[in-house]
Amino acid sequence: MDIRRVVLIHPGREGPIWGRGSGAPYTLMRLASLVPEEIPVEIWDENLTPVDHRLRQLGPHDLVGITSKTLAIESAERFARIAHECGVQTVVVGGAHATLAPEDVAQWADVVVTGEAYRTWPQIIQDFTDDELKPRYHDSEWCDLAGVAPITDRVIEMIDENHRYWTPMLEITRGCPRNCSFCTAIRVSGNKMRLRPVEEIVDEIERRRIKRFFLTDDNFGLAFHTNPDYIEAVLKALAKLPLHGWTTQAEMLISEHSDLLALAREANLDKVFLGFESVNPDNRRELGGKSKGLVSQYLEAIRRIQAHGIGVVGLFVFGFDHDTPQTMMDTWDFARQSGLDSVSMTILTPYPGTPFRAQLTEENRLMDRPWRYYDPAPLAFCPERMTVEELVSAYAWFCRRAYSPLNIARRGVRVLTRHSPSRIPRKLFGSFSTDYGYRKTFDWRHVEGSRLLSAWGSG
Ligand code: SF4
Repeated sequence: MDIRRVVLIHPGREGPIWGRGSGAPYTLMRLASLVPEEIPVEIWDENLTPVDHRLRQLGPHDLVGITSKTLAIESAERFARIAHECGVQTVVVGGAHATLAPEDVAQWADVVVTGEAYRTWPQIIQDFTDDELKPRYHDSEWCDLAGVAPITDRVIEMIDENHRYWTPMLEITRGCPRNCSFCTAIRVSGNKMRLRPVEEIVDEIERRRIKRFFLTDDNFGLAFHTNPDYIEAVLKALAKLPLHGWTTQAEMLISEHSDLLALAREANLDKVFLGFESVNPDNRRELGGKSKGLVSQYLEAIRRIQAHGIGVVGLFVFGFDHDTPQTMMDTWDFARQSGLDSVSMTILTPYPGTPFRAQLTEENRLMDRPWRYYDPAPLAFCPERMTVEELVSAYAWFCRRAYSPLNIARRGVRVLTRHSPSRIPRKLFGSFSTDYGYRKTFDWRHVEGSRLLSAWGSG
């Protein structure tokens, strides 16, 4: 069948923030770049503009691809239904949820893509043209990142990310060898850390003309430890670019690499999102070896990183089997004394394919809840040492304190004092925006969580 165009859709929840999308749809930018130049391609991002009414323009000769995380998969299903009503014959669904739960997606998608789609996506386009589509495409190997799906100038121009998005995304490494019980990274990105060639990273930044970015890497910080020579080369290359700042996820090991941290600062690394996960040492078994619940270690790591002028956002998860409401109070005590630039608190979520979910299933503690609640997920499982209500109340108790206007202002001002006066105007937005984003997420979770608690009870 002749292709009229390829439409790639990114379902979103938050919508535009002050007229822009929060993060550019990086995966779709790369998949769009694999579409042959002679075929028109569009990216529809629900965080930028509503998608439902645009779907009415589609027809049988349009190939529709949707990427989705678990949280948004019900939106993806709705998009597929509307597209089918308009005569679309092929809706291809990939991304994290399709990889983790392909049978679930296969109930309503025409084609399910599991694994990385960089090899299968061009094949799907060809098979659509040849009328030879199969219901399932599986990328069985973790591809070498060298030369994989470079973003084309056509896509760069189309997406116009520097004007339409707050945060461009970038990939330097992919995969994580840790296996934290709750994390999907090992199943979605592989357990071996793969590295992009330095020259390809530089080329992409220059062609996209981005001055700041957030790394999509699962655990960039671990590469400081496992691949220090590579990281040194990356940081030296980034230092030569006119960047305003960038941020990444990392783990505490990064604090042991003082030389690389100094280079990172020269390369304009602004802040790291550090997965401490828990202040409860009894949870150490769940934390994949990267964190042991020892507050004294956390404080030392924060101090060392901040000494290089790099900010630290602490990431915590609540709801492990050894957690009680007291754990949340201990976390708040730690957050207050730690000097963290910002703090993220999420409730443990039993994503498909994780050891945590398997354990809950075996122990008959998993509740049958819609996927759209797999973000806060306060009602998706029965905690071990507290009731669901206690878990939700403790979470709200923490967030009300952490994200009160006064505490957001305190942390933001403290961050600004680390910068020279000439850099403060440029750093103003970033010093408050992370906390503001967490506050917004909490508001959504709190309203939904409370509504569900009263609708369903504790299950
Ligand atoms: S270290 Fe981070 S990315 Fe790696 S498995 Fe644990 S939570 Fe996931």
